Amino acid sequence: MTEPNGPGAAWTEERGTSDEGKALSEPKGRAAVWTDEGGREERASERGGKTAGQSAPEASKFIVCAPLRPEARAVRRGLGGRGEVRRTGYGPARAAEQAGQLRDVAFGMLAIGGVGGGIAPGLKPGDLVAGTEVSRIGSAASVSCPSAPLLAGELRRAGLRATTGQIVTVDHLFRRGQQERLLSQGAVAADMESALLLDGAAGRPAVVLRAISDTPQRPLLSPWAVPGGIAALRSLRLAGPALARWAAACAPRRVLLAGPRSFCAGVERAIEIVERVLDRHGPPVYVRKQIVHNKVVVTDLEGRGAIFVDELDEVPDGAVVVFSAHGVSPEVRRDASERGLDAIDATCPLVAKVHAEARRFAAEGYQVALIGHGGHEEVEGTLGEAPQAMTLVETAADVDRLRPEDPDRVAYLMQTTLSLEEAGGIADALLERYPAARGPGSDDICYATTNRQLAVHAIAAESDLVLVAGSANSSNSRRLVETAQRAGTPAYLIDGPEDIELDWLAGASVVGLTAGASAPPAVVDQIIDALSGLGPVEVSERVVATESIRFGLPKELKR
Ligand code: SF4
Repeated sequence: MTEPNGPGAAWTEERGTSDEGKALSEPKGRAAVWTDEGGREERASERGGKTAGQSAPEASKFIVCAPLRPEARAVRRGLGGRGEVRRTGYGPARAAEQAGQLRDVAFGMLAIGGVGGGIAPGLKPGDLVAGTEVSRIGSAASVSCPSAPLLAGELRRAGLRATTGQIVTVDHLFRRGQQERLLSQGAVAADMESALLLDGAAGRPAVVLRAISDTPQRPLLSPWAVPGGIAALRSLRLAGPALARWAAACAPRRVLLAGPRSFCAGVERAIEIVERVLDRHGPPVYVRKQIVHNKVVVTDLEGRGAIFVDELDEVPDGAVVVFSAHGVSPEVRRDASERGLDAIDATCPLVAKVHAEARRFAAEGYQVALIGHGGHEEVEGTLGEAPQAMTLVETAADVDRLRPEDPDRVAYLMQTTLSLEEAGGIADALLERYPAARGPGSDDICYATTNRQLAVHAIAAESDLVLVAGSANSSNSRRLVETAQRAGTPAYLIDGPEDIELDWLAGASVVGLTAGASAPPAVVDQIIDALSGLGPVEVSERVVATESIRFGLPKELKR
């Protein structure tokens, strides 16, 4: 193949019922184009998700443009009949002509598939690039394909090497130095048709997928050309099922946001502490354990010079070390002090409150049951406050195993990020067995955990699917998934749009969306943006509480 197509070849202040969906934004991206064309979005929702102006078969008609015969054959074999494959011809002129014809065709969604030239370092023949932006060389304008991360994630789960990025459509095979120039402008791959073919989508959902046939290290006019082309066509064929799932997921949707969601005051404070320490001392700054349980946050801080370690013995003598928001036991503080480390404590004040309660109950001679999950850093830190007086209780059955010396001197505390329902059940079992048991002065399950669970519960019943932005090791995020599932709605934890499985979306016209207390708000925006690449998206929010609490910084950082 390859030759023609590759270039070069305070707690919550209010908790209530402001539950009327509040419009947050106009439909985004391609969605806006659809809506502009005669108010289709509204009618579509009335008609169960069909695209107004088109019959149901037309709205679900999936067209794939593949420039050359071998590309069309590879795509057709991969799709197995789940779409109409059009061979559109080589080069910009034919692509422009085909786009003009496509505008007169009734269809629902468009994919452009073919081989292309790799520009970004690290790409190999056979790798797949889903274009997030597609532009024509020399033009400042580009077309966004917001659902590219969804397709790339699906391809990776299918075992293919896939990435996302900017694809540039060039007019000729690469000239000397052109790849370097395109790379400096952010391009990942190049082809000779996509930017023009995309015009044919006319606002309908579209993706561009290029399988890399050649790279600067393995150029077209070299012995690598044939194996590179074969690898690319093979990947294109294997990508077929993912393209078909992408098409099946395309539909108008409503996104129902849970409010509040995302960062809590303790997480904002912990991140700010690391940022300030980096500013003050310069990198590297050591952080014991993940500062908060979120991949995106940790990766970002690592990029700025933070080094995350599991234990203090990985920190060089005399270095600055930050303790995470989940807290540490007194033993860790002692170790840091004996080693002469400059320790700065980012423990959330609400976790510190539970530590103080543990010390107080232990000093008063109580046996303390800590309701929580074994192995969680917060639980380890709290247990470390009074190890001789505390017992971990993970289930109601654990209550039966308690053997307090004095049944009248039993107390209980809770991990801050538990499920309200589950923790309440365990506390009830404990009170039933030890009616005189003392609980915390104020709720241990913090305001942020409580509000986010109430909010996700409020949207779950109305949603066909709930997505929770958060990492797998985030306790509060996992509890949000469980809360939605308990309400009878399928719910999934995702770090970002690339984790969304397209099958989840097929038939889901209302998607509930929230984020754990450690997940950045930007991830929620990225998810909405990606969904808008599958069809018009109407965003509304259900707010059950407003939050205004802020925590001050540690004294070392105020000086
Ligand atoms: S979830 Fe609650 S306890 Fe944990 S950091 Fe946030 S405010 Fe603090």
